[in-house]
Amino acid sequence: MTIAASIRQIESRLQGRAKLIAVTKTKPVDLLKQAYDAGCRRFGENKVQEMTEKQPQLPADLEWHLIGHLQTNKVKQIASFVTLIHSVDSLRLLQEINKQAAKAGRVIDCLLQIHIAQEETKFGLDATEAESLLNGPELEALANVRIVGLMGMATNTDDEPQIRREFRGLKQLFDHLSGIRKPNVQFSELSMGMSGDYLLAVEEGSTMVRVGSAIFGARN
Ligand SMILES: *Cc1c(COP(=O)(O)O)cnc(C)c1O
Repeated sequence: MTIAASIRQIESRLQGRAKLIAVTKTKPVDLLKQAYDAGCRRFGENKVQEMTEKQPQLPADLEWHLIGHLQTNKVKQIASFVTLIHSVDSLRLLQEINKQAAKAGRVIDCLLQIHIAQEETKFGLDATEAESLLNGPELEALANVRIVGLMGMATNTDDEPQIRREFRGLKQLFDHLSGIRKPNVQFSELSMGMSGDYLLAVEEGSTMVRVGSAIFGARN
């Protein structure tokens, strides 16, 4: 299937229930242009260097979503243009994003990444850590970030009930934390679901799916 046909198929399955983030990591710019021409306006990259290389080569009316682990010393490279950082997993990182956003004269939207998978290797906060970060006094000082929701990755398994349980748990946490209202905490987005599980994720309440290989083919 062509990139355009894959995007059309995914969009028709989503039926407007969730926003599609096309995950373009490792893919060359000409494939991103094909996705752009097919109407895609939200791209997700997991590495700062790759994102900053590609961003100037594409039209400006695009959203850039950072979906991978972010090191504090790299925040400044993306602060002027990034639309949403899905992978915030510490107060220290949030403070650095705030500092660089202020320098760039912006407010940067962020999601807290929550660890929901059984695998040990994936980054993220647990429910208690996320709640205390959101309720903590340090957050009040961060006027240049806005926490708009949560992101999570399910276990890489064929066990559908397990994936569903993990997504459902994240949605419950999302609903619980949505009660917290501060100037810079306004929950509206729940980023969950990838190529193999995005329909399950949408059924469980996802508002943003991050889909790579189902659009661009397998990565090397
Ligand atoms: C690579 C990646 C995706 C997309 O994975 P696919 O299985 O290719 O759809 C989604 N989210 C994150 C955080 C990723 O790193």
